[in-house]
Amino acid sequence: MLTGLARDGGLYVPETIPQLTLAEIAALEGLSYEAIAYRVMRPFVGDVFSDDEFGDIIERAYAGFGHAARAPLVQLDQGHFLLELFHGPTLAFKDFAMQLIGQMFQTALGRKGDRVTIVGATSGDTGSAAIEAFRGLENVDVFILYPHGRISEVQRRQMTTPTESNVHALAMDGDFDDCQARLKDMFNDFEFRDGVRLAGVNSINWGRVLAQVVYYFSSAVALGAPHRPVSFTVPTGNFGDIFAGYIAKRMGLPIDKLVVATNQNDILHRCLSGQGYHKGQTVPSISPSMDIQVSSNFERALFDAYDRDGNAIKQLMDELKAGGFDVSQGAMQVLQSNYISGRASEEETMATITATLKSSGELLCPHSAIGVKVADEMRVTGTPMITLATAHPAKFPDAVEKASGQHPPLPPRMDDLYERGERVSRVPNDLAALTAHIKRHLTA
Ligand SMILES: *Cc1c(COP(=O)(O)O)cnc(C)c1O
Repeated sequence: MLTGLARDGGLYVPETIPQLTLAEIAALEGLSYEAIAYRVMRPFVGDVFSDDEFGDIIERAYAGFGHAARAPLVQLDQGHFLLELFHGPTLAFKDFAMQLIGQMFQTALGRKGDRVTIVGATSGDTGSAAIEAFRGLENVDVFILYPHGRISEVQRRQMTTPTESNVHALAMDGDFDDCQARLKDMFNDFEFRDGVRLAGVNSINWGRVLAQVVYYFSSAVALGAPHRPVSFTVPTGNFGDIFAGYIAKRMGLPIDKLVVATNQNDILHRCLSGQGYHKGQTVPSISPSMDIQVSSNFERALFDAYDRDGNAIKQLMDELKAGGFDVSQGAMQVLQSNYISGRASEEETMATITATLKSSGELLCPHSAIGVKVADEMRVTGTPMITLATAHPAKFPDAVEKASGQHPPLPPRMDDLYERGERVSRVPNDLAALTAHIKRHLTA
């Protein structure tokens, strides 16, 4: 959790996946979100935290959410449900993981008075979620790189308006893939990495994936699991959220289908359709948090699909640097048995926002609309489909208003966001300039 990326450039994965029995899953029914979180995550934590410490961490992580259920389900249609994951402080699902990680860092670092420097790259929502989780914490500086001019105004303001001196927003020239690449470079610059005690909280951080496993259990159990299976559709970019669903399944939750929903930046949909994993050009969309070409957690899915052969994955990742690779037939079979996929164009996304408002009264953000559109194509009678609503519509007011004619208001606790002052540094797409900037701006 504290290091993020492994030193050989690979991603951490658990050696084994703990199992919950059907009786243990059934016993989750009716428990609070926090109680379910404790039971689902406890087996992964070992003796790093005591039972009491871990319980307190979970309580503090979700106390600031604006909904008592934390992750409420609403019904869209017969057999189709929306899992609202946008009631946290930054109005997107990333708060579930980031708030938990913030509390875990504080507890772990506070014991010895250690400090770390957190650097993250964001296509919009990770950054603000990280800043909300770490702002004002004594043992941490947090630097967030985002692609200049390519995120929404709400996303930007959430990162640039916190006044705490340990928060540093960096607007980088380039796109999100450039930001991710420079972040990876910083982790591979060991002198810098060790000098500032670099820690990562990007979606490749295993602690984040783990936190996201919880709401697959809470929502499935609310709809009758484990006595009947459910399916999930997940608006996908870096594959962290859907991979958490796969982990839930591996832990024993009866999930029928895991559906990957992409926007026009559809490398994952093309790959799962058998066309190989080849980078294209990122085309900016109205769902910017899914505008990726390289999907960082997909490496974890490939690792399992290639029978946990680290050398094979290292070779694929080297080929990816040069543009892409084809997936072996055996690995493709494994991937297709775990995931199916669909894509939504910009027009389909807009039309789904319009149609869903009309049919159910729900105002969707563009990311969630992609999920609803693809879920509608994939769902079958008899198995409930749960679509993950990954952000609040007010985070993307322009697209939502264009599609629906309604201006989505921010929740009252955030409604002065547009009046607060902004603080941000413009930085070039250059490793040496970035590391120098970070060293100069550390608070201790
Ligand atoms: C991050 C994000 C996604 C994509 O999630 P991944 O875990 O990267 O696949 C989708 N929607 C929203 C609103 C997001 O912030």
